[in-house]
Amino acid sequence: MNIILLGPPGAGKGTQAHHLVATRDMIQLSTGDMLREAKDSGTEMGKRVAEVMARGELVTDEIVIGLIREKLECGKGGGFIFDGFPRTLPQADALGQLLSECGETLDAVIEMQVDDEALVDRITARSTCSNCGEVYNDNTKPIPADGVCTKCGEAHEFTRRADDNEEALRNRLMEYYKKTSPLVGYYYAKDMLSRINGLGSVKDVQGSIAAILDR
Ligand code: ADP
Ligand code: ZN
Repeated sequence: MNIILLGPPGAGKGTQAHHLVATRDMIQLSTGDMLREAKDSGTEMGKRVAEVMARGELVTDEIVIGLIREKLECGKGGGFIFDGFPRTLPQADALGQLLSECGETLDAVIEMQVDDEALVDRITARSTCSNCGEVYNDNTKPIPADGVCTKCGEAHEFTRRADDNEEALRNRLMEYYKKTSPLVGYYYAKDMLSRINGLGSVKDVQGSIAAILDR
C-alpha cells in the first residue's frame, strides 16, 4: 500500500510517518529529510538547496524528483509513505509515472488539516535530536531535563531547523497554499483523497490514519 501524507508544514506528517514505519513495515520517503541529508553532506547540490530551504522556498522539481527516483525501490517492504512529496502538480505527475513504472499504484492521499495559528505555535516550539531525529516540542513534549533523548538514549544536541523561524515559516505557508494545495483538488478528482483533522493528539491522528488504511 502506497500513500501520500499531504499537509502544511507542521501538520505532523513526519510524526505520523514514523509511527507507520514502526507499526506497519512501511518505508518513509521524506524529501525534506533527503534534502537536509544532502545539505549536511556538503555536496554541490546540498549547498545549492540549503539557501532555498532556509528561506522557506521550494527546491526545484528536477532535484526532488531525482531524489525520489533514486530512493524508490520497486516492491520493497509494506509500501511507501510519501512525506513532503509531491509538493507541486509536476511532482504529482512524476510520482504517478514512477509508480506505474514499478507496476504499483497510489492507494490513498491523506490530507492532514491544521489551522495556521496552530502551525506557527507548533513549529516555533519545535526541536530535534541531532542524533536520531526525534522531534520535541517546548509545550507538549519538552526536551528531557537530563538532556538524554528518550528515543535513542543518548545525550546529543537538540537543534532547531534553520527554516523553523517566523519569516521562513510565512514563506513555507505561502508556498503551500500557492503550489501544494492544488494537489488536494488533483487527488480529489482522482477519487484518492481522504481528509482528517490533524489538530487532535498524536494518538487521535494515528487512529484517523489507521481507519483509512484498514478500510
Ligand atoms: P515542512 O515541515 O515544511 O513540511 P520538510 O521537511 O518536508 O518541511 O521540507 C523542508 C523544506 O525542504 C521545504 O520548505 C522545501 O524548501 C524543501 N522541500 C522538501 N520537499 C520538497 C519538495 N517535494 N519540493 C520542493 N521542495 C521541497
Ligand atoms: Zn535521539
